[in-house]
Amino acid sequence: MNYFYLYFIIGYYTYSVLGLIIDIFTIDNRINSMNIFSVKKNYIKVSHLVNTNVLLRSIPFLFLAELMYINYEDVSYITFLCQYIVTLILGSNLEYLLHRLRHTNYLYNYHSKHHTQKLLFGYMTFYEHPYDFYLSMILIIFPALLRFSPSITHSWILLYLYKTVIIDHCNLFFYGKHYNLHHEVKKYNFGYKYIDNFCSTFNNNYSIIKKKNDDIKESDIKNLSPFDNYKCYSYLCKTHDKESKIKYNLGKLHYSNFF
Ligand SMILES: [Zn+2]
Ligand SMILES: [Zn+2]
Repeated sequence: MNYFYLYFIIGYYTYSVLGLIIDIFTIDNRINSMNIFSVKKNYIKVSHLVNTNVLLRSIPFLFLAELMYINYEDVSYITFLCQYIVTLILGSNLEYLLHRLRHTNYLYNYHSKHHTQKLLFGYMTFYEHPYDFYLSMILIIFPALLRFSPSITHSWILLYLYKTVIIDHCNLFFYGKHYNLHHEVKKYNFGYKYIDNFCSTFNNNYSIIKKKNDDIKESDIKNLSPFDNYKCYSYLCKTHDKESKIKYNLGKLHYSNFF
């Protein structure tokens, strides 16, 4: 037993929580900042599909990955190293190829679901139509299908999740522009920059991406019931006063903001 399922779900939710911390506490690092209302609205909107994909639809694939290692004998260090290099090169190219295929007429019927979510954040990475998600799962377990060392599959699962959840979908100003542009102009930037460059699908016209600040509006506060208004008070009082600023940040963590 290699516990691929645990690696997958713990990896996904850990990176998603990191993403949530970015969304709430470091909004200046995001291309499009989210206020606490849009965090709540968007997380709730995607949660059913994301959780069903990650927790249930992934099971057959990760079970298949386990089956691939029946009677498996571990490999030498040299073979391990070669397998690792092949995994990184093949994986990044496969990611590009699959993503381009998803934008062909037939598969885009399914991939378009992912692109309907306009605001990017880590947790929405697997906001995908089930068929589209199955393609993602093939990519995630491909080292197991080749019967590479189980440690390589573990490491690939975590690396791939880090790349797609944090680098691609967390909307970070410094790392996420390349992929963010893909969500704006869908025929460019399918994978790593160097592969896009090689295949002439690279676009670095980042001026298309405009930093939008999703500020809390007066109307958002007015529409709250007095009870909610009270619960939200601590983060709604924007201030430069040091003590209130700490309260403002801590208030965002109030459980009521997530239910
Ligand atoms: Zn796409
Ligand atoms: Zn995406």
